[in-house]
Amino acid sequence: MTESERLVLQATQVLTCPGGAGARRGDALSNVGLVEDGAVAIADGRVEAVGKKAELRDRFPDAPRVDLSGCVLSPGLIDSHTHAVFGAWRLDEYELRCAGVPYMEIAKRGGGINASVADLRRRSEEELVQLARGRLRRMLEHGTTTAEVKSGYGLTLEDELKMLRAIRTLSDEDWIDIVPTFLGAHSIPSEYKERRAEYVELVAQQMMPAVAESRLAIFCDVFMEPGVFTPGETRRILESAVGHGLVPRIHADEFESSGGAELACEFGAASADHLGAVSDSGIAALADSGTVATLLPGTLLFLGKEGYPPARKLIDRGVAVALATDFNPGSSPTVNLQVVMSLACSRLSMSPAEAFVAATANGAAALRLSDGSGTLEVGAPADIAAFGVPDYRLVPYLYGTNHCVAVWKRGRRIH
Ligand SMILES: [Zn+2]
Repeated sequence: MTESERLVLQATQVLTCPGGAGARRGDALSNVGLVEDGAVAIADGRVEAVGKKAELRDRFPDAPRVDLSGCVLSPGLIDSHTHAVFGAWRLDEYELRCAGVPYMEIAKRGGGINASVADLRRRSEEELVQLARGRLRRMLEHGTTTAEVKSGYGLTLEDELKMLRAIRTLSDEDWIDIVPTFLGAHSIPSEYKERRAEYVELVAQQMMPAVAESRLAIFCDVFMEPGVFTPGETRRILESAVGHGLVPRIHADEFESSGGAELACEFGAASADHLGAVSDSGIAALADSGTVATLLPGTLLFLGKEGYPPARKLIDRGVAVALATDFNPGSSPTVNLQVVMSLACSRLSMSPAEAFVAATANGAAALRLSDGSGTLEVGAPADIAAFGVPDYRLVPYLYGTNHCVAVWKRGRRIH
């Protein structure tokens, strides 16, 4: 290794989010691994060393340096729940909701998820790639270096595969890591409204094997909620997923508890997401499981709802908590995980340190990433976000703006 192939980034604070692969719980969730006047040496796309500026200056005296005084360096943010591939925004629906029209009424008038489904079916794969590329690029500019992206606006075999291929194309471009999830069970499409059992079988018997065979998804998600998919239907779909080698995750207990957290744990799901109405038995099950509780407070803010998940109780009981945007055109049109961290502090009573760990290391755990993603420990991928503030607590505190000033992906500066 010549010195010129190495790069040393120096900053006012470095957060390493230590603890290796796997989720942080309890007190470990507030350990950001703070190094004041810190530096990170990167080589071969990985973190080679982390320490005090002076230490790394002595160790690598001739390496080129980037001076980021006044900045915080953190692991690239990991957004473990997004629906980033879709067609148009849903502005008419937004206006109706602002005027107080209830969501179910909007859905009856043809709005909601099924409006995005009708829109997506009309678009080409190339068009979807282009639209999503711009949105993911903005996500990256806000500090996110890895994002999970779900299908779920196609709801036919052909259109679900079209979405998953669009996700694969973007993933192959290699400037942001994308983890693909099959969400054929996002909604009952309108043509199956009177034949829902048939749609569930279509997902379980036809879509699942085709998705598994195409290797276009790692995870399988189900929107389990009263009015969407029942516990029985969810079980049927997840059994098929497991049978075909896909790892389950569940949209669970968002507005009403229907045992979603419990079912996620029973299936060994990677995550149970939303959890605004999680029951005590659901919390107990999560605490005893490897399932990460992914909280999405941006959705509640945007929908103007209360019913935030009981983050404090979850953390105090030992549940692994992650934060994500739920980026989608209907209920959470933000790519900004920093603002989700602000909401976590203001609405979920999490500390700024917990918010950082939940948006980095625990996001990685929710996606079962075991390569050190979500940390800046030695050997981890050099996926790094620089925030233009001298104290990490300012990132959630000065809410609503983008503090990210630079991003490195595998050691390469891409923003
Ligand atoms: Zn979602």
